[in-house]
Amino acid sequence: MTTQRATIAEIDLTAFKHNLGRIRSLLEPQVKIMAVVKADGYGHGALPCASAALEAGADWLGVAILDEGVEFRTGGIDAPVLVMGGIFPGEAKDLVHYNLSTSVSDFSLAQELSRQAGQQGKTVGVHIKIDTGMGRLGMPLEDLPGFMEQVQSLKSLRVEGIFTHLSSADEADPEFTLRQLSLLGKSVDSLKLKGIPVPMIHAANSAGILSFPDSHWDMVRPGISLYGTLGLSGKSSNPKTPLELKPVMQWKTKILKIRKLPKGTPLSYNRQFTTERDSLIATIPVGYGDGLNRALSNNMDVLVRGQRAPQVGTICMDLTLIDVTDIQGVQCEDEVVLFGQQGSEAITVDEMAERCGTISYEILCNVGKRVPRVYVG
Ligand SMILES: *Cc1c(COP(=O)(O)O)cnc(C)c1O
Repeated sequence: MTTQRATIAEIDLTAFKHNLGRIRSLLEPQVKIMAVVKADGYGHGALPCASAALEAGADWLGVAILDEGVEFRTGGIDAPVLVMGGIFPGEAKDLVHYNLSTSVSDFSLAQELSRQAGQQGKTVGVHIKIDTGMGRLGMPLEDLPGFMEQVQSLKSLRVEGIFTHLSSADEADPEFTLRQLSLLGKSVDSLKLKGIPVPMIHAANSAGILSFPDSHWDMVRPGISLYGTLGLSGKSSNPKTPLELKPVMQWKTKILKIRKLPKGTPLSYNRQFTTERDSLIATIPVGYGDGLNRALSNNMDVLVRGQRAPQVGTICMDLTLIDVTDIQGVQCEDEVVLFGQQGSEAITVDEMAERCGTISYEILCNVGKRVPRVYVG
């Protein structure tokens, strides 16, 4: 098949590398960067983003699950990869086989990893996760010194790092983040006090990198910022540092059909919109089957010929209607931008996220498999 679908996600890898450079500009030179490329690179394509990150100087790649790490190895990437979400004991064998590192917070998994590594004649890298306020993975910090002593007996285990995750670094009030960072600092002190060697320490996600220089430690873990948004939640502050990030993904399609419909015509499923004037209504070949959230029905704009046009009627699985009555010269096959830039107008991922009550992360991850990723730059 040589044809390409009209509905595409255009991915600008030059913008991705620019964003990594902007993050780098905030760091002391010795601080390493783990580019977070989980969930298929936040929907942008894991392998292309991982390669771009490494070309732009990232030291590590961060993923959530084992399969994402394996995809890099079978795709020819041999850079260090951390499976941040941790693994089940049954996955230890493959983790070791593919030379991946994993998060660890209990001794039985550490034992199993060491056993598997020993059997394969290798060592396995682990990053010990401590819980400072997510309540998700990780061990309480008071368990850390004992755990470090215990794992020293495991000959095929290599402790590469100690890390935690910030829950609230995007909020205006810094208090909770400062508390998390202080707990991490105390864990490090408790090791030093006992003469236990301290490996690489890391904590900062994108919001942490921007707003809390003290969170940088030895390595930072940017995700959303590499994709060109800050993914700020409702409680967010504007970060103290303006960063000039560039959006990486643009979601585009083309007008499939245009119809002239008289005033009073009901549109789409359950007639959730009725034309209030004689209208030009265009159909675009994209819907919730492509990840266009149905909650955006009658609640989003698109760009056509550099102008905003409102979406109308219920978003269907494969088709969506837009009102192009006010767009001069509109024609079939005109480009339609769901988010991205057209002429001097732009619709951001954050705008779409806000309109359907979520965050940019979810909008990007949900752009469906059916939408071809087209790489530029
Ligand atoms: C997803 C994730 C990140 C990246 O967070 P962003 O907010 O996208 O920068 C960093 N660390 C861990 C453990 C994560 O799960």
